[in-house]
Amino acid sequence: MDLQASITTIKGVGPETTKKFEKLGVFTVYDLLTFWPRRYDDYSEILPILKIEPGAVTVKGTVESIKTKRVRRGMHITEAVIRDESSAVRVVWFNQPYREKYFKPGVEYYFSGLYDYSFNRYVLQSPSVEEAKDFTKNTARIVPIYAQTKGLDSKEIRRALAEITGLFKQLPETLPQDIIESNDLITYAEAAQQLHWPESHEALETAKLRIGFEEVFSYILAGQLNKKQIESEIALKIEFDEKLAKSYTKLLPFELTPDQKKAAWEMLQDINSETPMNRLLEGDVGSGKTVVAAFGAYIAAKQGIQTAVMAPTELLARQHAKTLADLLEPAGVTIALLTSAVKGKAKEEVKKQLAIGTIDLVIGTHALLQESVNFHRLGLIVIDEQHRFGVKQRQKLVDKAHKIPHILSMTATPIPRSLALTVYGELDISIIASKPKNRLPIETVIWSPNSRAQLYQIIDDEIKLGHQVFVVCPLIEDSENSEAKSVKKEVERLKAGEFKLRRMDILHGKMKDEEKAEVMSRFASGEIDILVSTTVIEVGIDIPNASVMLIEGADQFGLAQLHQLRGRVGRGQHQGYCYLIPSTSQKPSKRLRAMETTADGFKLAEMDLEIRGPGAIYGSRQHGQLDLKIANITDMNLIKRAKSSALMFIESGKKLSDYTVLQKQVQKSLSLTYLN
Ligand code: ADP
Ligand code: MG
Repeated sequence: MDLQASITTIKGVGPETTKKFEKLGVFTVYDLLTFWPRRYDDYSEILPILKIEPGAVTVKGTVESIKTKRVRRGMHITEAVIRDESSAVRVVWFNQPYREKYFKPGVEYYFSGLYDYSFNRYVLQSPSVEEAKDFTKNTARIVPIYAQTKGLDSKEIRRALAEITGLFKQLPETLPQDIIESNDLITYAEAAQQLHWPESHEALETAKLRIGFEEVFSYILAGQLNKKQIESEIALKIEFDEKLAKSYTKLLPFELTPDQKKAAWEMLQDINSETPMNRLLEGDVGSGKTVVAAFGAYIAAKQGIQTAVMAPTELLARQHAKTLADLLEPAGVTIALLTSAVKGKAKEEVKKQLAIGTIDLVIGTHALLQESVNFHRLGLIVIDEQHRFGVKQRQKLVDKAHKIPHILSMTATPIPRSLALTVYGELDISIIASKPKNRLPIETVIWSPNSRAQLYQIIDDEIKLGHQVFVVCPLIEDSENSEAKSVKKEVERLKAGEFKLRRMDILHGKMKDEEKAEVMSRFASGEIDILVSTTVIEVGIDIPNASVMLIEGADQFGLAQLHQLRGRVGRGQHQGYCYLIPSTSQKPSKRLRAMETTADGFKLAEMDLEIRGPGAIYGSRQHGQLDLKIANITDMNLIKRAKSSALMFIESGKKLSDYTVLQKQVQKSLSLTYLN
């Protein structure tokens, strides 16, 4: 049988099953052989019946007696007694009457299932059964569990796979031999077989290491190839004029922190070159990233080179425009805003001036990507929260530049090192770790949902002091499928109760950009006391007068996200407070409690990464999620080895096209990364 043959050619896989497999992305024999299990149930230890304890167990025995009862509503219960040399145990199956005819007398079978208390006694509940032979699929082994689709369960997948298990050894090698050897890896074929049918825990770990290595290796290789490609392009050199840079620091309303100075310096060095900059500026919320971007824009403007700042939302674009105007207009830089809310004549004017070059710096949203937007001499691009843009969108802006532009990406998402190396391998990274000195740490308290009244009192006292409050809810509207609080319901509830006299409004993602901007500007000017919102206020919003952040359903958010929300307050000179109300009054999780004890965004992101994976750090909006099926992204050792192997691969001058499977993986990851 051919690896590329359709799965229909597998014994027992008919047209119906084929359709279901196709839903899982499995079309060929090869696809099935490389359709990795999601997880495993460990039924590998076979115990004498006398020794079993409640939990997942496997026993080996013969059937002593068996009978099926019909109970109410056509339900069948089959009960049996299984015996081995040590003892006997009772077994029940629900609605599997065929079990009664299944067993041959005197033949030994494996039974794998949950031994548990039910109807006043311990029984082995609905175990899987197989004749006790060498090769088993569902019992007496580490059993693979697959992503399943309706009508196609793991058992069916195992059955089909067992038919083609002889073909594992035909799976071609995917990695170069020297990389396999220097990393002490097993062959691809061996790893694939062990992933599906692990012989032991050790064999499973070794297989995971092999396939995980390959996943990480291809990401890093993609990043490094990208880096090489970018380095071969030509950018507009933005001369580093030290005197000019120093004179700019004098114009700033504050002194730069050491981290800000370092980041600005690194960027100015980068752009002072014909090699395009591709730098990520990471800094916790409020760490002061904007001024670093302003530096670049200032130096560029003085040389007649334009800068574009792209932000993911109207709100953020407006805010950046305001901050950057404060930082740059006194220095003679001309600034414009271009978002979908900028219309008609105003819009035409901005476009005209961008094209002739009388605007030095434009801040905008996706509106910047329109075809009719042209630049005179665009040399520097700043992308805020770049993971919220797709590759194509970023590329469109890049295409508007004079040559290949210098790119500074900014993010308030603290990206753990392992993730940064894997996903952002082609980027140079600057980190602003320390915040400006004048900040007070935000007091964070987990508050029981049963004592909201006291909390509202505390919050009202803050409002009496003239401060403002955010209330964040998980949903926009109440939903049948969720108990979680919604913005629309919550604002009504609060208006009817404790906060009758307070001015409130709402903000959420379904509102029009103009509406959002209008609400935000009223909040910013102090016309709203309490803003009830979804997480749209998450990133970058700067309201120095807001001192309280109350988060409903806090346990449902990732730590990185909670940390970002918390960063919305305590940005002025007042003490900031963050109250986390979990959705139940049960003891809060260790995870959530970490919010109380640490203000370090990196630590929180690392915890998220370990427990919930990369999705928890980026949220679902991330374009092109990191797709690691087997690799453990927190395994720094694995990542380091994969990185040095990727560099070795490139240095050795090997051709990627000689490794077709690897090439496909690399291409997939390339489309996630920066510039192609
Ligand atoms: P973020 O990194 O979240 O984008 P911003 O650049 O918006 O942070 O800066 C947050 C606030 O801190 C702004 O009001 C800014 O003016 C202020 N700020 C930035 N750097 C400093 C500094 N070195 N000293 C004092 N205030 C600063
Ligand atoms: Mg910001």
